[in-house]
Amino acid sequence: MPMENELRRFLAERGACDAGFALLPDSGSQDCRYAVSVVFRLSDAVIDEIGDGPTPTYYQHYRAVNALIDRTLLEAGLFLQREGYRYIPVAASQSINDAEQHYAGRYSHRKAACLAGLGTIGKNSCFIHRQYGCRVRLGTLLTDCPFEWLKGPATFDPCGGCVKCVEACPAKAISGKSWAPGMPREGFFDPAACSAYMKTASRDTGRGAVCGLCLAVCPYNKIQPV
Ligand code: SF4
Ligand code: SF4
Repeated sequence: MPMENELRRFLAERGACDAGFALLPDSGSQDCRYAVSVVFRLSDAVIDEIGDGPTPTYYQHYRAVNALIDRTLLEAGLFLQREGYRYIPVAASQSINDAEQHYAGRYSHRKAACLAGLGTIGKNSCFIHRQYGCRVRLGTLLTDCPFEWLKGPATFDPCGGCVKCVEACPAKAISGKSWAPGMPREGFFDPAACSAYMKTASRDTGRGAVCGLCLAVCPYNKIQPV
């Protein structure tokens, strides 16, 4: 517990709104099988401006928060290394298109955050934090530090019969099916359609970002009671 508390304080001082810990048997590393999942809130004011379409301000904000997450994970990893542990930061936004998966990073931030008990996944394929909703970005730090404070997956359904993101998505990437633990993303969401939309509709300003309409319309974006 002391290391978990140290890390939570360390991350909060750098702007994180929440952090959790999980054991990841499928981390892809032989020794770094624990994860610190870190949550940063996006700006409500920036997302509220999205309105009918994506904005250059949102694209820049998206990239800036990703950069902050990457820096924070590096600092947290260096902190762990000073304490004698090994670490691997998972990039905030990096697609590794290998033979087995497309439009996915080294490890799913959403999966790590779910396993750490921080929230769940909505119909829009976004992580939905139990308190702050889907207007958040995630980071994941793999480590061999043996955390003990493991809460396990959260169980709540933020979507119910809501289809606001389904109706708002210009790429028709959101099927309307609810996610369930173990369901692959492609079972309810089309990442290729989302990516293709960004490449055609916002080629000049939106490179490396997403349009954000499915975040902007989601009613699960007010601070929730915990
Ligand atoms: S980011 Fe835009 S295109 Fe992608 S799923 Fe959300 S609303 Fe659809
Ligand atoms: S807009 Fe509605 S259906 Fe879509 S993720 Fe948010 S709560 Fe779920």
